[in-house]
Amino acid sequence: MMRSRWNPSKSERPIRYNLVMLVALVSGIAAAGAITAGYQSMAPTGQWYGRTFIGLARGTKQLALTYDDGPNDPHTLRLLEVLARHNVHATFFMIGRYVRQRPDIVRQVIEAGHIVANHTFTHPFLAFQSAADIRQQLSDCRAAIQDAIGAHSNLFRPPFGSRRPTVLRIARELGLEPIMWNVTGYDWSAPPAANIERKCTKQIRGGDVILLHDGGHQQMGADRSQTVIATDNLINRYKSEGYDFVTIPQMMDGRKTIGGNKR
Ligand SMILES: [Zn+2]
Repeated sequence: MMRSRWNPSKSERPIRYNLVMLVALVSGIAAAGAITAGYQSMAPTGQWYGRTFIGLARGTKQLALTYDDGPNDPHTLRLLEVLARHNVHATFFMIGRYVRQRPDIVRQVIEAGHIVANHTFTHPFLAFQSAADIRQQLSDCRAAIQDAIGAHSNLFRPPFGSRRPTVLRIARELGLEPIMWNVTGYDWSAPPAANIERKCTKQIRGGDVILLHDGGHQQMGADRSQTVIATDNLINRYKSEGYDFVTIPQMMDGRKTIGGNKR
């Protein structure tokens, strides 16, 4: 009697099925891992790819306003007027090529007592750049700031928060401390001012580093009028609740006495 050429026994089928399930499971885990790794390379408070400063312990009565992508005409100067009226100092992460265009604005920022820091020369996703390009981006921005104001802070913020260990290593080799944030104002997409304020107040827990924008990375001239209004209102609100507004260096100095990174 001929036996059929392929007659899987009862026990063979579950094995094949389990194999399929196993492959699916493993690729699922790999995909989840890749997504998590990708998320961590952008997540402002993620610490997988190296330690970055994201603020003080929750409940600390200090807040740090930070502004990215300037200098920008006229909104950086409008912002300086608001900050001066409240006697508040902030930290500005500037794009080197704009610094080259408008060193006069950078000088006014520094003369008003604020901190000017490095946000690369052309605002690329550093996680995808070669080591040589990362180094060039940071050095070119530093040189632009140095030429504008004769000094440079030791602070750096990666554009889009995009980073990998090499980015942080190179930054530290150049003497730059990576600064992230833990409150996002979404001011590039969330105007009017009331929306920006709501985004911030929902996240603020004390000891926070607040991300706002006085400029836009695509071109100079981005409209940040709503950020200027939101800044005014946020300062009024949190000062009345007993918060101090400090620069990033002031906040980092206080780190040892009032708690380190909040997460
Ligand atoms: Zn930016």
